[in-house]
Parts: sequence; C-alpha cells; structure tokens
Amino acid sequence: MTDALDRRLARLSHLRREALSPGDPVALPIVPASMYHLPGDPAGVRQYGRFANPTTEGLEDALGHLEEAAVVALPSGMAAIAALFYGLLATGDRVLLPSDGYYTTRRLAERFLAPMGVACDTRPTAAFLDGGFDGYRLVLAETPANPGLDLCDIAAVAEAAHAAGALLAVDNTTMTPLGQRPLDLGADLVVASDTKALNGHSDALYGHVAARDGALIDRLRDWRTLAGAVPGPFEGWQVHRGLETLEVRFARMCATAEALAPRLAAHPAVTALRYPGLPQDPGHALAGRQMRCYGFLIGLTLASRRAADAFIERCTLIQPATSFGGVHSSAERRARWGDAVPEGFVRLSVGCEPAEALWAALEAALDPLAA
Ligand SMILES: *Cc1c(COP(=O)(O)O)cnc(C)c1O
Repeated sequence: MTDALDRRLARLSHLRREALSPGDPVALPIVPASMYHLPGDPAGVRQYGRFANPTTEGLEDALGHLEEAAVVALPSGMAAIAALFYGLLATGDRVLLPSDGYYTTRRLAERFLAPMGVACDTRPTAAFLDGGFDGYRLVLAETPANPGLDLCDIAAVAEAAHAAGALLAVDNTTMTPLGQRPLDLGADLVVASDTKALNGHSDALYGHVAARDGALIDRLRDWRTLAGAVPGPFEGWQVHRGLETLEVRFARMCATAEALAPRLAAHPAVTALRYPGLPQDPGHALAGRQMRCYGFLIGLTLASRRAADAFIERCTLIQPATSFGGVHSSAERRARWGDAVPEGFVRLSVGCEPAEALWAALEAALDPLAA
C-alpha cells in the first residue's frame, strides 16, 4: 500500500524539475552570494545574502514538501531552538521544557532566557501531561527524549496546551519527519537538528523549524534576517543531498535497531535497555500509535562506567562520538555530559552497516563484559 507520505517522498526527488529550463543543472546548485545584482527598485527580487539565498530556498522547499508546512532553515538545531525562543517569547512569558531532553536547550533557557524575564520550568517527558499547561506561552516537548528515550503523547499534549492557550513545539530530531509527524498530531511547530539523521553524514550542522501557520514561520524568518543567524549555502547543499537518501538510510537504520534491540536486551552484560520497539518498553504502546517506526536510537545500560567505556572502545563498528544519526553506528556514555542517566548508560545510534555484521561486532565487544 502506498500511503500519502510515500507519494510525497517519491515526489521529493522530482521537486526541482518543474522549475527547470533546458540546460539547467538537475542537482541543486550551491550559490555562494552576499550580493545580488540590484539596480533601481529593489522590490520583489533577492537583495542581500542575509535576507535570501537560492540554495537555502531549495532546501526549504524540499523540507517544506516533506513536513507539509512552511519551513525556515537555521544554521544548527540550537539555532532553530533559539529562533523559537527569541522569535516567539517576550518578558513575562513562561516556557515549559522537558527535564530529560537535549540538555543544551535547558542550558540556553536558564542562562539567557531566564535573565531576560522569561520563566522556564521543566518536567519529565514520561509525565509531561501532569499539571497541565496553564500560564505557558510555549511548551516544548521532545519525544522520544534524548537520551533517555521516554515518550509523551503528542496529540494529548497538543490538546491540553491549546486549551491552556499555549503553543506546542515538538523537537523531532530523534525521529525525523519520516518517523513521526508532530504537526499531523496537533503540534503548532516542529523544531529539528538536521545535523543528525536528516543530513546523516556527520559533516554539517543544520536545523529547521516547520509550522502550518505561515505567520509563525514569517516571524521566525524575520528573526533570522535581523539576528543574522543565517545558514550557509554549502551546508544547505549538503543537507539537501542527505535528504535525498534519508528514506533508504532511515529505513535501514530503524530496521536494524528493531532487529538488534531484543538481542542486546537479552545479552547478559546488559542490565537495562530502552527501545520503544520492545514490547516491554514503557513507551511501546504509545510509540505504536504516534510513530511510524521505532527509531534507530537504543539506550543500553551496562554494569559500570568502566564496562560502558570498554564496550564503546572495543567495538570495531562503533564510532565513539557525541551526536548521532550518521551512516556509521556511533555511541557514547551520556553521564560524561552530566545527563541524569546511570554511569553505565550508553546511547547507541544504529547506522547503515549490514545488520548481522554489526551484531557480530556488538556481541564480540559485549561478551567479555558478561560476568
Ligand atoms: C543535537 C540536538 C539538538 C541540537 O542540534 P545542533 O544541530 O547540535 O545544534 C537539539 N535537539 C536534540 C534532540 C538534539 O539531539
């Protein structure tokens, strides 16, 4: 069965075709430009590099096609979150963040929003609905949350947030628009770090915000132009190229993660495992309702910090690195950054390696750790 998203994906590779003239390049051109030819009346054309860039526009068109929304591109995931904060909040507003989500988001709010008179509260993702949303201007949810992989019910959060007069933004970095559709579930905004699986090649920082209310995106684009948080055309071209293979990469990564998660959970060296695809996972039923697949991130806990470090260093098919979503599998011990997880907790990002070869390498690194 072809669903609507499949049809959208099929068209993604042909989006540019309609605008091409004979002799034009089929691939999206990289256009490095601060100046545009601008004699006389400047209305209606590109004026200056901080306002507009054709490569960035080409990527925004592709992302917008996939999100079924208006999109503004930003130079990193954090720049996308900063655009949300500074574009939508004012002194006296309250914002709610997940206490177990990406830690830099909380740090930005504590260090720079709070001193400007924007009150910032946090709440665990697994209990995100508890207490309601009265008094909030913006609620930012992250599901599955990075790194603990707890989930919250996007549709229920959207309904309660809207009843309280709040805007709901969802950080969709861990799932991409292919794995989860927050705007379809009622969220007002999607924010994402495209540095991760969407670009997928670990060679560029990028981010975007998507919304179906074009006025919200106009406001964020205005903030981008005035603040100067403008993504470069070369990075936009890289992300556009990554996006063209997202579907095949993401399908492979998620299928491999789904195949390996139960084997990892059963390994005697693993003391606990989080993966929304496991029937015993606390997020499993909700994941089945609101996600299109279970993702490529696995949270596994080993006995100690030493065991976790040894596993990551010993495994020949794991790249020890922060960040995730590359074609290569990667992992890190998140407690090294102060995340509230056990010392032996490893966030494993499953890559595109053939599944059985990856399993053999993971097993070989885990076996010596089974006491
Ligand atoms: C990495 C990440 C970000 C920040 O993205 P950058 O591209 O590194 O700025 C935001 N949210 C989540 C969930 C992330 O994993």
